[in-house]
Amino acid sequence: MRALGIEGTAWSLSVAVVDENDVFAMISDPYIPKEGGIHPREASQHHSERLPEVLSKLFKKIDPKEIDLVAFSQGPGMGPCLRVVSTAARLLALKFNIPLVGVNHCLAHVEVGRWKTSAKNPVALYVSGGNSQVIARKGKRYRIFGETLDIGIGNALDKLARHIGLKHPGGPKLEQLAKKGEKYYFLPYVVKGMDFSFSGMVTAAQKLYDSGIRCEDIAFSFQETAFAMLTEVTERALAYLDLDEVLLVGGVGANERLQEMLKVMCEDRGAKFYAPPKELMGDNGAMIAYTGLLMYKHGLSTPIEESYVKPDFRIEEVEIKWS
Ligand code: AMP
Ligand code: MG
Repeated sequence: MRALGIEGTAWSLSVAVVDENDVFAMISDPYIPKEGGIHPREASQHHSERLPEVLSKLFKKIDPKEIDLVAFSQGPGMGPCLRVVSTAARLLALKFNIPLVGVNHCLAHVEVGRWKTSAKNPVALYVSGGNSQVIARKGKRYRIFGETLDIGIGNALDKLARHIGLKHPGGPKLEQLAKKGEKYYFLPYVVKGMDFSFSGMVTAAQKLYDSGIRCEDIAFSFQETAFAMLTEVTERALAYLDLDEVLLVGGVGANERLQEMLKVMCEDRGAKFYAPPKELMGDNGAMIAYTGLLMYKHGLSTPIEESYVKPDFRIEEVEIKWS
């Protein structure tokens, strides 16, 4: 079977066709803001203007008649962006007379990670622009064991980067600066139970910059503090659930320092560390296509009348029918 997937919850507009084994083709055309952060209306306009061309490029590589179902990211995400994606998915399903599958975006990050690594039953650390969650499976659901109380770690990095004059997306740029950091400056380390918070840290780091501290040292201090918080909660989830695998997913997962901290923690505990290839780490169409295929093979599809967008869609809402 072959599934087409459409991702477009925020900055990433990406379509792909996959089967059970691999990604056949993926075409992406990301929205990059001219200034500031991601503006939902501008992003959705970008998606609606570019989606026809992105799809026609894909259909030059794969005949639409060879596609068995269309999957789309139904949420969570920015309402205006989700509406563009769901409208396109409904149209394709009706035009080609194939089933429609609405996919939870967070679930797709976890499932593509399990697909492309040997992780079987991991504690997943999902770190992206809008989300930061520690997720593991318990029976027929994935559960969120810890999450951000305010903004996602990617958003925190991007906000700090903007304040010091770096363009969106700031995460990769701060990573390069942090490599040249020499001095650690105190920043609030906020872990409450199994949850964490980043917005106070951003304000404190912005104040360091305003007081004339070197950007390299601020980036270094920010990464050390924020990534230690994420590693601590991931470790506690491993201990509490008595699991021995960690799976890192989401765009911030590309960060080498975060990977290093998690690897050290895993080695200390005798756990294994996994991360999918970089092109499948951030938001992408292949993860939606693959998860849609998995759902469809286990009897799940989305009737047109239930294909409305879910901006606050939580991973726990999906019943997991596969092992
Ligand atoms: P996603 O929403 O999962 O696609 O992730 C996007 C986020 O990942 C943005 O906030 C980026 O700044 C962030 N990001 C991408 N690469 C890196 C990196 N190497 N280090 C830190 N953050 C990153
Ligand atoms: Mg994401």
